[in-house]
Amino acid sequence: MPVSKKKTAKNNSILAKELYNYFGFDTFKGDQEAIIESILNKKDTFVIMPTGGGKSLCYQLPALMSEGVAIIVSPLIALMKNQVDLIRSYNNVDQVAHFLNSSLTRAQQKQVKADLVSGITKMLYVAPETLTKKDNIDFFKDIQISFFAVDEAHCISEWGHDFRPEYRKLRGIIDEINPNIPIIALTATATPKVQDDIVKNLTLNNPNIFISSFNRTNLYYEIQPKGKKEQTLRNLVKFINTMKNKSGIIYTLNRKTTEELADTLKANGIKAVAYHAGFESADRAKRQDMFLMEEVDVIVATIAFGMGIDKPDVRFVIHYNIPKSIENYYQETGRAGRDGLEGKCILYYAHTDVQKMEHLMRDKPLSEREMGAQLITETVSYVESGVCRRKLLLHYFGEEYTQENCGQCDNCLHPKEKIEVKDSVKIVLDTIQQLDERFSINYIVDVILGKKNPQIATFRHNKLACYGSGLIMEMDDNFWQSLIRQMMLEGMIRKDIEEYGIIKINPKGEKFLKKPYSIKVVLNHVFNEDGNEEEIETGNANGVFDEQLFAMLKETRKEVAKEKNLPPFVVFLENSLEDMALNYPTTMEELERIQGVSKAKALKFGRKFITLIAQYVADHQIEKPDDFIMKSVVNKSGMKVFIIQNIDKKIPLDTIAKNKGLSINEILNEIETIVASGTKLNLDYIIDQEIDENDQDDIYDYFSNFKDDNLDAVFEEFKDSGMSEEHIQLMRIKFLSEHGN
Ligand SMILES: [Zn+2]
Repeated sequence: MPVSKKKTAKNNSILAKELYNYFGFDTFKGDQEAIIESILNKKDTFVIMPTGGGKSLCYQLPALMSEGVAIIVSPLIALMKNQVDLIRSYNNVDQVAHFLNSSLTRAQQKQVKADLVSGITKMLYVAPETLTKKDNIDFFKDIQISFFAVDEAHCISEWGHDFRPEYRKLRGIIDEINPNIPIIALTATATPKVQDDIVKNLTLNNPNIFISSFNRTNLYYEIQPKGKKEQTLRNLVKFINTMKNKSGIIYTLNRKTTEELADTLKANGIKAVAYHAGFESADRAKRQDMFLMEEVDVIVATIAFGMGIDKPDVRFVIHYNIPKSIENYYQETGRAGRDGLEGKCILYYAHTDVQKMEHLMRDKPLSEREMGAQLITETVSYVESGVCRRKLLLHYFGEEYTQENCGQCDNCLHPKEKIEVKDSVKIVLDTIQQLDERFSINYIVDVILGKKNPQIATFRHNKLACYGSGLIMEMDDNFWQSLIRQMMLEGMIRKDIEEYGIIKINPKGEKFLKKPYSIKVVLNHVFNEDGNEEEIETGNANGVFDEQLFAMLKETRKEVAKEKNLPPFVVFLENSLEDMALNYPTTMEELERIQGVSKAKALKFGRKFITLIAQYVADHQIEKPDDFIMKSVVNKSGMKVFIIQNIDKKIPLDTIAKNKGLSINEILNEIETIVASGTKLNLDYIIDQEIDENDQDDIYDYFSNFKDDNLDAVFEEFKDSGMSEEHIQLMRIKFLSEHGN
């Protein structure tokens, strides 16, 4: 007999049946069932669950099952509507869920309140601002409320990644409405410090606390040094090309960079769009939709993007700048691989970005600046650490990760050598002890290294035995900082939660002090000022052109120039040759993408060059950079149009340079590249003012017979007539404009 295909709940508990009735799911995920029971038992409940864990269901189901309405506090008006729509889609009565906020008309608000009084509504989403209004408080006093749910509860803490002061008022308001109603607080991310803030601020009464693991096993974490801009862009484009047709998010620090980056990607054939808070809201929605509907693959955004974006198949998240805290980093990278499949998280790091970030905070109040600085310091230590990224992240959220090698981060895939630090650990613990466990990392390191600072003098800590005790190890600040952080990871010491930043010794540390044992740690990565990691592989990947090929290209240029009876620079500029020796163009199409080379010019002079390069590539078995040539980039076209328009308007050269923030030298090089790629520009208005007419003729004649490619020789020749290098270059551009195209 065929059995009925009708689906039934597999789990027979009452709750599971309700789950099936209301939402059609068979089973609960993780702690959901226990959490729901806790709420139904009228207990204060605290839920810490990463995004994607099924957080909202934890209050939605008990709300549907309870008498009265559940009040759900949520920070974002835009998200409320989505949530309400979602619940309505599961239910045949639309009034089952409502939201109340400033976006509703007076009539709509009246209707919502009528539904609340009638008892038909089970869930009401409100913004904290709505809840603070006097008449609303009075209204809520008179209706039956099942419980309060405080969603995104980390907004309560200044240490969270999204502090909202109104959240601090919630406890007072709830007390005013009815102090006996249970509260459920929920957050997708919280450090022990933030957790502590939430419990205290909401004065949760002996709450049941549920913490899910924050380990996102499918995410891969990697830090890349960020060197010269051009090189970073090249790496970025190369990486995205390996992720063809997959969705990705790139986060940057400011609006301008989002647009520049998106333009660069587009110029290189990647479907990308910029997103930031400066666009009109309709435009923002359009851009967001383009990403969701996969009309574009990559969205380049400031952190304004992503709250409430639930695209399950984002395959990579790139941080073009260092995020302002580890929580931000975790949240933002957390948008990758929500479906549990591949998710690559790459962060480009340069120390200069940290300074930029500090600069951005300069107008903030002191306390906020100090807090911001501390959060950034923690992010930097994460970036520079040689320890498993997963272990570091989870430790930040108060979770211990014990696996030796996660196999899914750069540090585990390329482990650094470990060094023995038994004696150094002893020095650190002795120092913390002698300082009565009352100081932060920086201070401890200063004492260990015997530094002089006013605080140390005031406390007379320079008299302690530990003062300067670490000098014997001949290691720098960075080593000690890193060691102390790794001791925290090992659980020997901890940061105090009450007095944030103060280091205390744990039982494990006490035990070590009594009987020191062998312990090994990895050293930090060292990034130099440009952001490049010091021991970096050399070769073409670094944007260094091939000297040997360059020399050969120069020879070829001479030959071609001779054939055509033109000065060599008219054929191709020096920087075009450099670009060729970097990118190895072997077809006309590729040649056209070289700086300062137009289609016409490629056809006119290029044949010999690509033949030479093709031969060279074959002879030396050179792997061209993924057969791809970086279209040279950022706002070049904008710059070009600007320069052409200004020269047509006969604007003085120094004014043009100043308006673009360039030096005269740089602007001349830009102009030369434009002219070399085939645009005629008339610079006579500048030249006539700068250079005597007879001298002009002399130089022009000289160029006509110029067979060398050494410009210094020209300069030498005309030095005595008071000619500057700029003058020579101006004349060369004029010559190029008239003969080269
Ligand atoms: Zn790892």
